[in-house]
Amino acid sequence: MIQMNDFRADPRVLIDEELAACERVLHSGWFVLGEEVKRFEAAWAARCGTANAVGVGNGLDAIEIGLRALDIGPGDEVITTPMTAFATVLGIIRAGATPVLADIDPDTALLDPNSVARCIGSKTKAVLLVHMYGQIRGMSRWVELCNQHGLHLLEDCAQSHLASEGGRVAGSFGMWGAYSFYPTKNLGAVGDGGALVANDERIVQNARTLRNYGQATRYEHTMLGMNSRLDEMQAAILNVRINWLKRFTQRRQVIAQRYQAEIRNPQIRLLAQPLELESHVYHLFVVRCADREHLMQYLKSNGIESLIHYPIPAHMQPASPGLLRDPNGLMNAEHHAKECMSIPCHHNMADEEVTAVVQALNAFGRT
Ligand SMILES: *Cc1c(COP(=O)(O)O)cnc(C)c1O
Repeated sequence: MIQMNDFRADPRVLIDEELAACERVLHSGWFVLGEEVKRFEAAWAARCGTANAVGVGNGLDAIEIGLRALDIGPGDEVITTPMTAFATVLGIIRAGATPVLADIDPDTALLDPNSVARCIGSKTKAVLLVHMYGQIRGMSRWVELCNQHGLHLLEDCAQSHLASEGGRVAGSFGMWGAYSFYPTKNLGAVGDGGALVANDERIVQNARTLRNYGQATRYEHTMLGMNSRLDEMQAAILNVRINWLKRFTQRRQVIAQRYQAEIRNPQIRLLAQPLELESHVYHLFVVRCADREHLMQYLKSNGIESLIHYPIPAHMQPASPGLLRDPNGLMNAEHHAKECMSIPCHHNMADEEVTAVVQALNAFGRT
């Protein structure tokens, strides 16, 4: 089976480095918020081009903590996309704020600035962009739109590790960037992990306080915080894998370039190509097909796994009916949810596997 991810195929040297890192943590006798976390925070901030990074429990918490660190909560509206991992919207709700959903651009599945503009009202405090599938695009326009309306620009970077536009990395454009290090993300731990990257000192201090029960100093609680700390074992793994990230990202980009060049089937439509190579890190390679169900079945019968990101947009989730949205509706997001599917694109894929995926896609519907 050609899988969406295959961590058992990681290079032996990488696994050895990870084992040594785990041993280091066990011998240190210190397991939560220690030297490994500090080292990773410094390294990740440097990669993102921000002054600081704050390690937290996961990507969902990074979003909640980021919003609370900015005093965004009850009565405040945050505009975001319905075509995302539900965690984006859930993070806003968990912070006590109100999500408002804008529609997407059908060619990229990224937020449509015109739809976002229609969602801005007197309660709007921020726009939470999601760099879906690993794409970062049109950032100067978002910075301008937010400045014009006095809104905070925020970035959900859970799918966009190292993606950059004009030399600036995801998470460094807005007030903060929220990262997830869930195992399948481009930079993944061996469990849950996340980080908030930011330049603003007050946001960083608040985030450090919030992740640790709201303690500003030991046993003095200045905020009603949560327990969302990055542990030493995950940070030690991340300290190893961060050194492989560039190589692994380049491998994803090579695979994606082959898909872009070689997939030729009128029934299968690709998303828009990135404007610069670095602006797409291909967390997922997404295609669209009106007959998705059959295509996925066909791939499966040819030994190729595929998944849907995402089949149900946020406004259609049973847990969150009646979410506020663009008065013109969310037609593009709904249509995308019906046709999108992700094909294997990961750092351990061999050239022959890429060829097999291309051949299967090109043969679909022609026999
Ligand atoms: C994975 C993901 C999240 C949530 O991250 P977790 O670490 O799983 O909580 C949030 N937003 C997006 C876009 C994601 O892909």
